[in-house]
Amino acid sequence: MKKNFFIAAILVFSIVFYIFFSKKKIEINILLATDERIQALSEQELEILKKYIAEISSNLLDIKIIIKNTDRKKFIDYIKNVEAEASDPYRNTGGIYDKYNMSTEFYLPKVYDHNELSRIIEPVFATLNMDEKKRFFSDAFAGKFGGLYHELPESFYSEFSSTAIENVRKLLSIKDKYGKDFFSLYYNFRLWDNMIKSEEKFELILFNGMLLDDLYKIQTSFMSLHTFQRGGLSYGFASKSKTEQKRTCVIGMMPIMSDEKIFEELRGKLTGNDKLLVLAHVICHEFGHAFLDYYDEYSHENCIMNPVDNYNFIEFISKKKYCDKKHRKLGLDE
Ligand SMILES: [Zn+2]
Ligand SMILES: [Zn+2]
Repeated sequence: MKKNFFIAAILVFSIVFYIFFSKKKIEINILLATDERIQALSEQELEILKKYIAEISSNLLDIKIIIKNTDRKKFIDYIKNVEAEASDPYRNTGGIYDKYNMSTEFYLPKVYDHNELSRIIEPVFATLNMDEKKRFFSDAFAGKFGGLYHELPESFYSEFSSTAIENVRKLLSIKDKYGKDFFSLYYNFRLWDNMIKSEEKFELILFNGMLLDDLYKIQTSFMSLHTFQRGGLSYGFASKSKTEQKRTCVIGMMPIMSDEKIFEELRGKLTGNDKLLVLAHVICHEFGHAFLDYYDEYSHENCIMNPVDNYNFIEFISKKKYCDKKHRKLGLDE
């Protein structure tokens, strides 16, 4: 009798322990959407990446990611499958550009006026608290401007927009092997953002191209400051979708994985496994948005939710630890 009671007590204790202390489990399907002009992830690289994702999501976000299936598709076939309406990147966004003018020209600074962009980002900066300003200034700009983060020099806003314009120029100067402009409409961040809302199967899409947005979108607060600073380049985003988890993350892998000279100049040289480690961290940052509804936290120094500062990937991965600070809600759950 006593023995049975003892076994029952252990059982109840184990169940309670399991419920309270086991990690949140999230099952996902992965799609590798491939632009054939760029090297695809090999099977071997994919296996290493999965191992890194499991470790980092467990250690830094305290969640257990279970990968059910991995599929491969040409990205162009993937895009063809989405509704025509969803593929219009400027649907309902009230962009200042003509939606049919979608060549590389479209992004070039015909209207990229430094003064106008600085006027636009000033109120965006005003929304940051002191900790967030400190992060921007101490890490990225303090040296460059020789000032204190709370005393913004006159030149700051125009310098900030110049950095962004310089970055976007570099990105758009990339040519394919035939010497043609590499960038196309299909690299438009808005296109992917709209498309993903109707995605039904994949919680993680690894696109081997880029996700580039129009700098003027900072006005509508869809674009964060760190994205603006890189010239509108997003490493990834998380959005509501129609998948089992109700979320999909898209990663534009090119800036991390490509050996293109421009990326090497921007981010420094990365070896094969370092690239995969960076990629896994970037993916887990998006998982934080998607599955924990976490906001970007510039003031949490070692947190996975503190976004990559410009192209400083090595700095980004080397500082990360589990963060027990309070995380603001992004609002995807609402
Ligand atoms: Zn983020
Ligand atoms: Zn944090």
